[in-house]
Amino acid sequence: MAYKPIKKLIFSVASKKTMKATATPTEIARETLRLLAARKLLPTPENYLTIYEEVAGANHATFTPTHALQNLVHALPRNTARHIRLIDNLEKLLQDHRWQEISQHLGDILRTNTLQTDNKSWPPLLLELVKHWSLPHAGLTQKHKTHDLQKIFELSGDDALILYQNLQDMLHRWSEIPLARQPMSLVASDGSDTANHDKAREEDLAICGRLIQQLLKNGLAHQLDHAPALKQTALELSDKAALCKKPNDFMVLETALKSFWMKLAMEEQTHQALQEGLIRLLRLLVDNVAELLSDDQWLKSQLDLIRDMTNQPISLELIHHAEQSITEIIYKQGLLKHSLNEARSTMQNMLTMFIERLGALSTSTGEHNKKLDGYAKQIRQAEDIRKLNTLLDELLRETGSIQIDMLRSHEDLSSMRKRVDDADARIRSLESELEHIGEKVREDQLTSAFNRRGLASEFEREAARATRTGSALCLAMLDIDNFKNLNDTYGHKVGDDALLHLVAVMQSVLRPSDIIARYGGEEFVILLTDTPLKEGIKVITRVQRELTKKFFLHNNERMLITFSAGITLVDPFESQETTIERADQAMYEAKRMGKNRVVAAEPAEPKLKKR
Ligand code: GH3
Ligand code: MG
Ligand code: MG
Repeated sequence: MAYKPIKKLIFSVASKKTMKATATPTEIARETLRLLAARKLLPTPENYLTIYEEVAGANHATFTPTHALQNLVHALPRNTARHIRLIDNLEKLLQDHRWQEISQHLGDILRTNTLQTDNKSWPPLLLELVKHWSLPHAGLTQKHKTHDLQKIFELSGDDALILYQNLQDMLHRWSEIPLARQPMSLVASDGSDTANHDKAREEDLAICGRLIQQLLKNGLAHQLDHAPALKQTALELSDKAALCKKPNDFMVLETALKSFWMKLAMEEQTHQALQEGLIRLLRLLVDNVAELLSDDQWLKSQLDLIRDMTNQPISLELIHHAEQSITEIIYKQGLLKHSLNEARSTMQNMLTMFIERLGALSTSTGEHNKKLDGYAKQIRQAEDIRKLNTLLDELLRETGSIQIDMLRSHEDLSSMRKRVDDADARIRSLESELEHIGEKVREDQLTSAFNRRGLASEFEREAARATRTGSALCLAMLDIDNFKNLNDTYGHKVGDDALLHLVAVMQSVLRPSDIIARYGGEEFVILLTDTPLKEGIKVITRVQRELTKKFFLHNNERMLITFSAGITLVDPFESQETTIERADQAMYEAKRMGKNRVVAAEPAEPKLKKR
């Protein structure tokens, strides 16, 4: 059956003859069906409706939804090009009965139409926007506001209604944020709010300027004593910052600051390079001076200290320790030196006096006097007490050959000699004390075991000896188990006593030739001289056994101290650090395996053929 479009039917309605107004709905329906069949139309609801209207009468048509919609669309205002386009489209869709699209389109038209009719609501909204834009909301900067607005434009696309609603929402959100300052005057709608706002802004900027000034003057300039030119610039910039009140002032300041930061960065690099250079120089100096010194043990230990310090990453703590040790040594050295100087000058004075007297008594030839003059000169120039002693010996010999009554002089000289001997003895004891102080620098204060510095030099000596003699040398690293527990439970003093106890036990088991050093808090390094690895393991295990036998007593309570140990053979061709690291790893393995045990580690690539 041929399909006849509804459009033609609609236009044909007016020309057709209609049924009587009195016809019943049943009659109209019957006639409608007859006509549908006669015109060979599909019995679709639309066709049925059209024919029904035709049969019932023309007036009926205005009440169908399609016609109603068409009339409505026709009546829509065609104000803008967009509206005209939308309405034309809608009409076409209506003709083709594309209902789904019609409903969408209608929605669009209604929305834009609402806007059109509701146009008056934009100006207040815009006014609101302008007002909130300039209000100082707490925590909501201009940047935030710009961001909010941009976001809204992006989200709304070109849909004015959505834009309107989003703007409204945004302004609502802004309006709920409290104002940063003087809310009353700023909300006022007269011109004073702008003036007040500007004033407040200027005040803010001035505060900002003052903060920058303080930062530059009190914060930065003080740190720049080493770079006077930069310090001067920082001070000048701080003065400028104090005068900044307007945004423009800050822009000028910013440019000046940028170039200042660059200079500062360069200066920092130079400063660091300088520091590194100085440390290198110091290291060089220390190494070379140490080479030149052969017998001054005291000075050597002082230099060792500085060398140790420069070989580690410099820290304030390290410098502080080094300074303390050096200061102590210098103080004691100063005392001793003072005693030595005193002894020397007393000797000098006495000898000079003696020679003068001798010269006055002398009846012998001028040759003797000449000799005595020579001695007097040498005595005055003598720098140390040993030289004086030698001179005194010579004088004693010389006087024996002088043909005068020298009895008194001889007595004088003998007593003088005794005093010189006394002074010499004192000097020797002072010197040994000095050497002892030097030793102290190598010793751990608490346990009197070697400290790290002491260990380093002992290690060097023993490694050299092992190479020379072809003997084996073992290194063990010990770490007390659960020491923190002991400290926490019984206190630090008990912890210290436990350390002393351990060292005492080690000393009782080990030989005098073995080296015990405290490596860290509760870590010890043991050097077992002339000991192969197997034997070394036995020795350390023996120390462990001994510790379980010799209880550590605290308040008559027996306490068991255990330790874990790693042991390795020393390869004199590798660095001390490598050996210690290997023993340390083995010690950690012992911890992992349950503590209170010894784990051995072989050198990675034994360079030694036979130990
Ligand atoms: P682990 O068995 O794993 O070695 O446990 P630990 O508790 O022994 O080891 P940890 O490294 O956790 O703690 C070491 C403790 O040693 C921490 C510190 O309080 C203590 N210590 C370090 N030096 C000294 C010291 O000179 N005297 C005392 N009394 N305690 C020290
Ligand atoms: Mg430890
Ligand atoms: Mg421990």
